[in-house]
Amino acid sequence: MHAIGIDIGGTKIAAALVDELGTIIRSDRRPTTASDPRGIEDAVVEMITDLSEGEEVVAAGIAAAGFIDAAQSTVYYGPNVNWRHEPLRATLEARLEMPILIENDANAAGWAEFTFGAGRGYSDMVTLTIGTGVGGAIVANSRLFRGGFGCAAELGHLRVVPGGRLCGCGAHGCIEQYGSGRALLRIATEMADAGGIGLGLAAARERKGKLTGKEVGRLIQEGDNGALAALRQLGGSLGQACSSLAAVLDPQIFVFGGGVAAAGELLLEPIRAAYLENLPARGFHPEAEFAIAQLVNDAGVVGAADLARKHVLAQ
Ligand SMILES: [Zn+2]
Repeated sequence: MHAIGIDIGGTKIAAALVDELGTIIRSDRRPTTASDPRGIEDAVVEMITDLSEGEEVVAAGIAAAGFIDAAQSTVYYGPNVNWRHEPLRATLEARLEMPILIENDANAAGWAEFTFGAGRGYSDMVTLTIGTGVGGAIVANSRLFRGGFGCAAELGHLRVVPGGRLCGCGAHGCIEQYGSGRALLRIATEMADAGGIGLGLAAARERKGKLTGKEVGRLIQEGDNGALAALRQLGGSLGQACSSLAAVLDPQIFVFGGGVAAAGELLLEPIRAAYLENLPARGFHPEAEFAIAQLVNDAGVVGAADLARKHVLAQ
């Protein structure tokens, strides 16, 4: 039984017809005009109509950034698309003769990773998506953990530095300010300014006019000392966050996705070290596994489709 997954991003809408094994049968992609919520709805309706033509489709899951209510119907707040208390599920179900489920995009991606990727075989998993910001998903006892209001697993806003840097969420000291792609660029820029091991970063900045995340990623792969030190600092902050998460959730595995996770073991190594150093009851507490996400680009659509299918079948 097939389901459709839609992932509404800041610059594009990805859509796919997905089977029960998480395999994409057909897919589609369109640009997003974030300032035009009605245009996005029209595009989603068209994509679902096109993909379901001649197919038996049981449901469609829509993944979007933001806060989604516990009933998975209303987008309380969308950071990319201008949705404020938007009853997206009712709007789409009125236009499509199909059950619709709305899901936070990080939750959808985390579910795909748990079901078809690095989280297979475990019951308790935490994912951290290290992109421009830090996203998160929690699977507890083999179920996606959404919280009482539907707003759980905003792990990027876990406080790691009391009174620390101001975050986009309005609070201070969130892990997003110390463990995101944007934070990596800030740390690398500070190192370029300071000289010393930052000389390679400074030279790259000189060459390109400015330092970019892509350039820092390239220097990491080349083994530049400054870029590697910036990544270690980033990993140290993330590892501390993981030790706190272990105290609350006790996951068997932490999975890292997003652009920065392309650094692979170079990222996992400092995370693991800081996690172990800060783990409560170290030496007696079983140690979690650390892994890189396997479903890189398709996780959002695959997870949204699978969640929608399982939601309908459970009824
Ligand atoms: Zn925050």
